[in-house]
Amino acid sequence: MVVSRFAPSPTGYLHLGNARTAIFSYLFARHHGGKFILRIEDTDRERSSKEFEEMLLRDLEWLGIEWDEFYRQSERFDIYKEYAQRLIESGWAYPCVCTPEELEEERKKAEEKGIPYRYSGKCRHMNLEDVKDKGIPYTIRFKVPEGEVITFEDLIKGPISISVDDFGDFVIVRSDGSPVYNFVVVVDDALMGVSHVIRGEDHIPNTPKQILIYRALGFEVPKFAHLPVILGPDRSKLSKRHGAVSVKNYREEGFLPQAMFNYLCLLGWSPPEEGREVYSKEELIKLFDLKDVNDSPAVFDAQKLRWMNGVYIREVLSLEELAKELTPFLERAGYSFDKDYLLKVLQRARDAFETLSEAVDRLKPFFVDDVEYSEQAKGILENQTAMQVLEYVLLKLEGEELSGQKIKEIAKMAQKELGIKPKDFWHTLRAALTGELEGVGVDVLCDVLPKDRFIKRVERALK
Ligand code: GLU
Repeated sequence: MVVSRFAPSPTGYLHLGNARTAIFSYLFARHHGGKFILRIEDTDRERSSKEFEEMLLRDLEWLGIEWDEFYRQSERFDIYKEYAQRLIESGWAYPCVCTPEELEEERKKAEEKGIPYRYSGKCRHMNLEDVKDKGIPYTIRFKVPEGEVITFEDLIKGPISISVDDFGDFVIVRSDGSPVYNFVVVVDDALMGVSHVIRGEDHIPNTPKQILIYRALGFEVPKFAHLPVILGPDRSKLSKRHGAVSVKNYREEGFLPQAMFNYLCLLGWSPPEEGREVYSKEELIKLFDLKDVNDSPAVFDAQKLRWMNGVYIREVLSLEELAKELTPFLERAGYSFDKDYLLKVLQRARDAFETLSEAVDRLKPFFVDDVEYSEQAKGILENQTAMQVLEYVLLKLEGEELSGQKIKEIAKMAQKELGIKPKDFWHTLRAALTGELEGVGVDVLCDVLPKDRFIKRVERALK
């Protein structure tokens, strides 16, 4: 059975790169009818936090990524202890009592000679009983066989070979007893039956170390798929310098989870159908496979994500779904409304915004009692013609129902009877209704706004 996993460290917010890794790993498992595991890698107690873990779970749930099994490494220390013990007993690992100062000394010497640093292996002869008896602090190191080249077939990058001489005996348990990533990841992936390790390419240098541990413990080596990095528009690795990079930022800005999911999929994966970019999660599950993941980096394009969000807002979500997503944003802005009214607004004005936070601004004239006038709007409303227009509109609406159509008729009459140019008519009405010179159509506003709200706004502009 295909088993894949996402294994984040709760040391920060979920960023776009990791979110994409999670999505690919999730889609791969679902595509093959397999199992998807979420594993929180919190062995580094100093850097991990509960808050970040909660945020990670929240972001993943928000994106619509469901997991079948959940683990937390901090709850598995007994297991790691047992396997560290096995490695020592079988001669694959040993206690190292070198002090940080001694190690620093070794590092400096290597630097002076201009050669890459590798631990000298001077504690290789140590045995556990001796160091325990002496009560000195020790780490546990993996004994790396010399001169070997580890080769593996990466499902995205193709064959990769790394000489073990590139690294020396490495630490698998710290002196405080906490186990290290390269070791626990192997124990967990093996015990959890992970068949495909899908992760960022920054982990390629770790892979040979992990393969050595798989072998030493007699575990089957899984398949590896390392995803290329995501680049910013300047072609350097996507980071905070490029602006918002955490999923949380985008969620708060009013991006839709469906659009994020869809967009992130396209970062490095080419759907088989050329030219089409909008896919539902179900379709992605059907179509996704690792063979269609590009082996070169993808460039993050914030504009495109925004565009896709707009497509989801205008075309993909039902009105009901959109209303549900938008409601918390409007409520936070202090607007009060009922659901029917919101649906009516959205039916006419869902094309006026590309993010939900933008909607708060663009849809304001539908929800507030009093609008604020921009300087330009003030200028227009102070004009004599404006007074004439507004009074005329009030007069003509007496006893009539308000609608976009009605207002168009009144505009025509105003032109005929008072000689008012259509441009002046619409500018005035727009300034009075929205306080701005651009935004949603005045006829749309007139179709949706309750008449009493409309009248109040016009009367206020007359004062
Ligand atoms: N905790 C590691 C990370 O966040 C996981 C790497 C892996 O998937 O093996 O980078």
